[in-house]
Amino acid sequence: MSDLPVPSDQPVPNSLRALSDVSDPGERYRALPDGYRVGQARFVIVTGSVMSGLGKGIFSAGLARLLADRGFSTNLIKMDGYYNEDAGTLSPYRHGEVFVLDDGTECDMDIGTYERFMGHSLSHHNYFTNGRLSQRINALERGGQFSGSDVQFFPHVTGELVRFVRESTQTAGADITLVEIGGTVGDEENRTYISAMSDLAYQEGERSVFFINLVWIIEARHLNEQKSKAAQHGTQLLMQMGIKPQMLVCRAENAVEPGVRQKLADRLRMPARNVIDLHNQSSIYRVPGHLQEQRVDEICLRYFGMDGRAPAAAPRPEPAGSSPPAAAGGLQRYLQALTRTRRIARIGIAGKYLGPRDTYASIHNALEHAGTDRQVRVEAVDVPSDLIDAAGPPPARERQAAEYLQDLDGLVVPGGFGRRGWEGKIACVAYARRHGMPMLGICYGFQAAMVEFARDRCALPAANTQEVEPRTGAPIVLLLPEQYEIEGIGGSMRLGRRTVRLRPGSLAARLYGAERIEERFRHRYELNPLYRPLLESRGMVFSGWAPGQPIVQVAELPEHPFYFGVQYHPEFLSRPGAPSPVFAGLIDASLAGRRAALGRATDEGTR
Ligand code: GLN
Repeated sequence: MSDLPVPSDQPVPNSLRALSDVSDPGERYRALPDGYRVGQARFVIVTGSVMSGLGKGIFSAGLARLLADRGFSTNLIKMDGYYNEDAGTLSPYRHGEVFVLDDGTECDMDIGTYERFMGHSLSHHNYFTNGRLSQRINALERGGQFSGSDVQFFPHVTGELVRFVRESTQTAGADITLVEIGGTVGDEENRTYISAMSDLAYQEGERSVFFINLVWIIEARHLNEQKSKAAQHGTQLLMQMGIKPQMLVCRAENAVEPGVRQKLADRLRMPARNVIDLHNQSSIYRVPGHLQEQRVDEICLRYFGMDGRAPAAAPRPEPAGSSPPAAAGGLQRYLQALTRTRRIARIGIAGKYLGPRDTYASIHNALEHAGTDRQVRVEAVDVPSDLIDAAGPPPARERQAAEYLQDLDGLVVPGGFGRRGWEGKIACVAYARRHGMPMLGICYGFQAAMVEFARDRCALPAANTQEVEPRTGAPIVLLLPEQYEIEGIGGSMRLGRRTVRLRPGSLAARLYGAERIEERFRHRYELNPLYRPLLESRGMVFSGWAPGQPIVQVAELPEHPFYFGVQYHPEFLSRPGAPSPVFAGLIDASLAGRRAALGRATDEGTR
């Protein structure tokens, strides 16, 4: 298969000729996209041992940032082992939030990290799952693409993975593609990926593929010592699978002791400088700098024989639509700004997926980006909407909500699905509306705001979303099949980047400084246009909509200091150094609100 020359000049002995005529046609299977030249691109494969959740995504994005700053065009692929076709059907408890790309791909949050570090948008070429792999193989088989061969793990299944990696590299025009394999090396679901990457290394040729294994260094408190055995064993497992990593990255809570790193180098027989410390950093955006101090980019480039190119000598033009951090130095400027934050804003996040920080990762990021831009440190506070739900009838829920919210400066009501936590979100919105607390409702949060307003201000106590109450007499939020026909996507999710028209002179238009914007969507239900006149008659202003369609996408309440609901997810396009205007507006209003509440013109103090 692939680029390996078939030694045609050697005569085939007669006794074997008949056999070779009937032998496996699958052996000629080529995992080569049209026009792909083997050995031109380089690949960095990132795996993990000991445990998942090591921060492989942050490491990969950090390394990509360093390589890009040296003038190389980089690309990233995240491969996840689950058999779901994409992350759209996963609970955020499983692998963190579901991130949405411009083209509507619902993917792993690591792709979000990469976009934030690099400042440009990725697509379905950057995310792969075993579910997609199965689908791809089945489609090829049904299409008769395997030339009569029985479909085998090798070369067909591994070949399709190799092809995907090459296609992605080709599409991105990348010098270097980073492939991050989710989960850990021992996961059965990852075997295919690891075999395929070993195959890629074999096919692309020597020094084309650089393997990096991340490990967790256990800090045994009762021994007051860092222990490396689990890291050794985890890496040995990878070696048993035929891959000797060129670099080991040691994740740990505290700086990894030189002795521990030396031991790992000796046991795994690799140069000590290739065993890297990556202990917890105060901000993920410090990771590139920390890696650069240890010359991770240089080691990698030297392995590839690419170290001849001068750092940042000829930076490539950044793709159109790049945000400021894509320019070299952008992250440094952001980090400097981060250290200058003096004031604190306490912002509640009223959701049901609280606990693990990853479930609302982009919201946490968007709050940090906006806060840093305004020299404010944002303290995100969990407001568990499901517990508020459980408090009892509406007055009890509102008392419970008040308890969580009364000391906060602002509120985000994020996206979500289903019944659990829904009434809790409505109670939070009600508190924010009545107490002049700055509030940003996102997607399900926006829908909750509309339902709350209809119940309280439009005398429609039965108001609800059909998602929770399919037979409600006042369907403020509902499925509108005819609109989906216009969109041409049946009754399914409305996904990806779309244009929003903003009403001139509205808060929305002022925040964005534009009347036509683009944001990313992920929803199935929407505001019922039949109720628009009623809501408007009570003071609601609809300030954003889909061009040429009656789909409402932004709502605001002018009588309130900051009451802003958006059907889209502004958090997905927020970047360090280029915060989402909506989050910036929330932070500004939160500070202003506190100043007003304290009865002073300025408040530079902290709580
Ligand atoms: N569940 C709502 C819908 O489908 C909101 C989705 C979301 O918040 N992402 O419309």
